[in-house]
Amino acid sequence: MSGVRTTVGWQVHAEGVARLRESWAAVPRGAPVRLAKRTSNLFRGRSAAGPGLDVSGLEGVIEVDGDVAEVQGMCTYEHLVEVTLAHGRIPLVVPQLRTITLGGAVSGLGIEATSFRSGLPHESVLEMDVLTGSGEVVTTKPGDALFDAFPNSYGSLGYATRLRIELEPVAPYVALRHVRFDDADALAAAVERIVADGAWAGEQVDGLDGVAFEPGELYLTLARWTDDPGPTSDYTRQQVFFRSVQERSTDRLTIHDYLWRWDTDWFWCSRAFGAQHPVVRRLWPRRLRRSDVYWRLVALDRRLGIGDRLDRRAGRPQGERVVQDVEIPVDRLPEFLDWFDREVGMRPVWLCPLRLRRVAADTERPWPGYPLSSGETYVNVGFWGVVNVGPDAPRSPRNRAIEARVSELGGHKSLYSEAFYDADEFDRLYGGEELTRVKALHDPDDRLTTLYDKVVRRR
Ligand SMILES: Cc1cc2nc3c(=O)[nH]c(=O)nc-3n(C[C@H](O)[C@H](O)[C@H](O)COP(=O)(O)OP(=O)(O)OC[C@H]3O[C@@H](n4cnc5c(N)ncnc54)[C@H](O)[C@@H]3O)c2cc1C
Repeated sequence: MSGVRTTVGWQVHAEGVARLRESWAAVPRGAPVRLAKRTSNLFRGRSAAGPGLDVSGLEGVIEVDGDVAEVQGMCTYEHLVEVTLAHGRIPLVVPQLRTITLGGAVSGLGIEATSFRSGLPHESVLEMDVLTGSGEVVTTKPGDALFDAFPNSYGSLGYATRLRIELEPVAPYVALRHVRFDDADALAAAVERIVADGAWAGEQVDGLDGVAFEPGELYLTLARWTDDPGPTSDYTRQQVFFRSVQERSTDRLTIHDYLWRWDTDWFWCSRAFGAQHPVVRRLWPRRLRRSDVYWRLVALDRRLGIGDRLDRRAGRPQGERVVQDVEIPVDRLPEFLDWFDREVGMRPVWLCPLRLRRVAADTERPWPGYPLSSGETYVNVGFWGVVNVGPDAPRSPRNRAIEARVSELGGHKSLYSEAFYDADEFDRLYGGEELTRVKALHDPDDRLTTLYDKVVRRR
């Protein structure tokens, strides 16, 4: 069938790695190294740099063999899922934005509705090849210092060119239940129950996430894989998925549409561009209702300052961009949501429970770069938008307050967006000592930008 993506094989992969290494050799010493990728889901500006490493030959799936896939580092989940679904399988965790790549989700962390039982994407990696700062391509496995420090390194330890990952069998359909809670305490208790039992009200739960619309109105969406045929909903047309969470108590989607349910409207963020207005939506080509299109519009706004000008014209105080995902221990979630609604006031927020898959004998924090505790349930809270704070906006007061509150509650903040920590605090929170040790081993000439310089100093 034409147009359906298939595997590329080892020869094509070897050619892709060779092209990457040629482009590495061409980077002058001392010049910043970065990837020449076609898409990104980073949400922080960064300084312009040279042409970038040629990764155009590393965007495919090498092979699928039963419950294991060999995947190139720059392969998007949209592409990966298209190939694995043809084998009736999916990766254990599929982040919900189509252009997130496997390498980006492993080095920049990822999360989705199966994380309550399958952990994070890097926890189902069996082996990977990494182009390190020494220019070598190193094969690394769980337990190796490089492998264990790689998650949350954001390219500061090198670039994954190949990843061997686990897959799980999946059914063609998904039955959904949207369960309402009047307070966050009840929702947090339900999360702990579902994590423990893998079920709710006697029915299996295969996917778990939720939305807090406002203090008294929160939902958990419980997904169950099913072979039962029957009608399914389609939220790529006039209907908008996040609205259905409030309007329906049950629903059905194909597994494909379930995986991309949040991408079509970037959760709820497409409304900032008018894409949820019925007339605009009818005119907005369906194939362009995707997160990477909205991401480009935001990049354009960042360059042209359209949002700021509209705020000034409307007499609104200057806006501060607040785009973050944070992990909060489940028993502190009500406290965080209460504080967040009072001090930041963004609504709605996304909720995604997670529990690490890896349990290590010698430490309760098996991933040094993002030291969550194994055996503890967290809830990822995601919020993306602008808060009109006034002339103080350039100092990012809300973002800084969120950083402080998350640390007070024993949580963690993902680093794909803006961060303001001082160097000591950053090292304490993100395993700076181990990162520095591993970087010295594999990048003795410091060719790759450090994590702190990338994330906080935005170099
Ligand atoms: C609005 C918004 C919501 C988000 N929500 C979620 C969410 O709910 N779930 C989720 O999983 N993620 C979420 N993300 C974060 C996203 O997953 C991370 O930013 C991820 O790192 C992006 O991956 P990417 O493939 O697009 O990589 P890029 O954005 O291109 O790069 C991200 C970083 O990873 C490095 N990198 C990229 N490829 C490789 C590689 N092969 N080897 C080593 N390093 C590499 C880059 O150098 C860069 O530092 C969200 C992001 C945004 C903007």
